[in-house]
Amino acid sequence: MNDIHYMLCPYCNHDESNVLESRDAFEGKATRRRRECLKCNKRFTTYEKLGNIELKVIKKDGHIEDYRREKLEKCFEKALWRIEEDERQKLIDEIEMKLLNWESVEIPSREIGKLVMDILKRTDPVAYIRFATIYNNITEIKEFEDIIKNFSNKK
Ligand SMILES: [Zn+2]
Repeated sequence: MNDIHYMLCPYCNHDESNVLESRDAFEGKATRRRRECLKCNKRFTTYEKLGNIELKVIKKDGHIEDYRREKLEKCFEKALWRIEEDERQKLIDEIEMKLLNWESVEIPSREIGKLVMDILKRTDPVAYIRFATIYNNITEIKEFEDIIKNFSNKK
């Protein structure tokens, strides 16, 4: 069982919140929690998983396949080999949390790609640039430079 201790507020990103209500969701595979942020006092709902989550991924060509955590694990292993396995698992938990809180159980693969990029951008800029290059199928050096420029501007 995966216990997630930190839960970011979607409004202000603060990681401490009060649990107002807990309920089973996804036939007992997740817990739905109503929370109140300790910083901004806004309320939000989270789904916390208890094992494998059942989601579908819509591929670029419209084909639908089962979501598999191993795919993200492999991707992170390649991209974020500099950081500890434990840390990587936490980052994947963070992505799964967002997927569980998606409005639909079918999620376009490009949206998952975006979540991965957000994490990489925050954790390892070099890995981010490398992944962004592959992900966006960039062949032109010019576009590659745009990404780097874009990245340094946001810092
Ligand atoms: Zn907040």
